[in-house]
Amino acid sequence: MPTDFARTRALFDLPPGLAYLDGNSLGPLPRAARARMDRVLREWGHELIGGWNRCGWMDLPLSLGDRIGRLIGAAPGHTVVGDTLSIKVYQALAAALALNPTRRIVLSDTGNFPSDLYMAEGLLRTLGEGYALRLAEPEALEDAITEEVAVLLVTEVDYRTGRRHDLPRLTARAHAMGALAVWDLAHSAGAFPVETASGGADFAVGCTYKFLNGGPGAPAFLSVAPRHAEAAPAALQGWLGHRAPFAFDLAYAPAAGVGRFRVGTPPVLAMAALDAALDVWDGVDLHDLRARSLELGDRLIRGALAACPDLSLATPPEPALRGSQVSFRHPEGYAAMQALIARGVVGDFRAPDIMRFGITPLYLGEAEIDRAVEALAEVMGRRLWEDPAFRRRAAVT
Ligand SMILES: *Cc1c(COP(=O)(O)O)cnc(C)c1O
Repeated sequence: MPTDFARTRALFDLPPGLAYLDGNSLGPLPRAARARMDRVLREWGHELIGGWNRCGWMDLPLSLGDRIGRLIGAAPGHTVVGDTLSIKVYQALAAALALNPTRRIVLSDTGNFPSDLYMAEGLLRTLGEGYALRLAEPEALEDAITEEVAVLLVTEVDYRTGRRHDLPRLTARAHAMGALAVWDLAHSAGAFPVETASGGADFAVGCTYKFLNGGPGAPAFLSVAPRHAEAAPAALQGWLGHRAPFAFDLAYAPAAGVGRFRVGTPPVLAMAALDAALDVWDGVDLHDLRARSLELGDRLIRGALAACPDLSLATPPEPALRGSQVSFRHPEGYAAMQALIARGVVGDFRAPDIMRFGITPLYLGEAEIDRAVEALAEVMGRRLWEDPAFRRRAAVT
């Protein structure tokens, strides 16, 4: 049965009259989250410490991991949820490096999200002598995968431009060169079908507050290929990644498989909201989602370029080369975006000049795209970005 996007739209609580095109940054509130939060608060109130045993709280990292695993094509039982994406990048990269111990180079690209690169640098400094991060331009990444590379650390979709890498192809090259591949699916999970297992990923990580709508600060995920699950060491040896946390042994012994990538106490309240958000995906075919996303993205690209000669397209127009966002460049992009937001069209801005619009068919249709085009035409045509009120920078852009 084709996905019913009118049904999925009704599952979200969006302020009336708003065209929300920022679901690539923070997904909206799934209606079911209220009841689920109520339930977990009642559990906390009534069960207190007993909730850990009686309410399944301790199992959430792995039960949520399985639900996300299905959305990213990972093998069942090999995904865990917790911490933030930056932490999960660190853990996956450290494990991948340990599995390729004779090499010292981590390769990534200049389109990666800075936190991934910062975490990599910090890890490599700790590892010491000879370890180094090498960056290529995104277009030159494939050719930069040489026999020196230990791990390819690549984020599939560029957070600014929406440019999408061909991960299975890069991964095949990495494997041919004797390197491992860590995929960052921050802008992929819930945005289109992802083939973590069949595409050969050694590790995959991502966050859940963007296209998965888990809520502000929702925990991240880490997936390990079954072939590495028992061999991959955990760099962050927290007690809940221990084989028997409640034995309180002084010596560390890793839990089986992906369970060792748990660190500490799970954020149960946040996980309850994520659990509810994942209900939305029952009955969603990710191929339908992708087709609809490209259709809506094309509509925005065509409309905006026709109405606004000052905008230049930052996103590759070819469907295979883009994720689920559309970005334009404009030198006054920050102020222009504030003017759009004041008109009820919400996107966001990324320095130096990128105006981003998330395309999220679960709750967006032609009407919102057309509103965005109209508002863009007005803001650009009347140079509303000149208004000083729109030029004041907030801390979060
Ligand atoms: C959003 C995003 C992050 C954010 O990491 P947090 O630790 O969750 O704040 C990291 N990496 C990429 C590629 C992202 O898109």
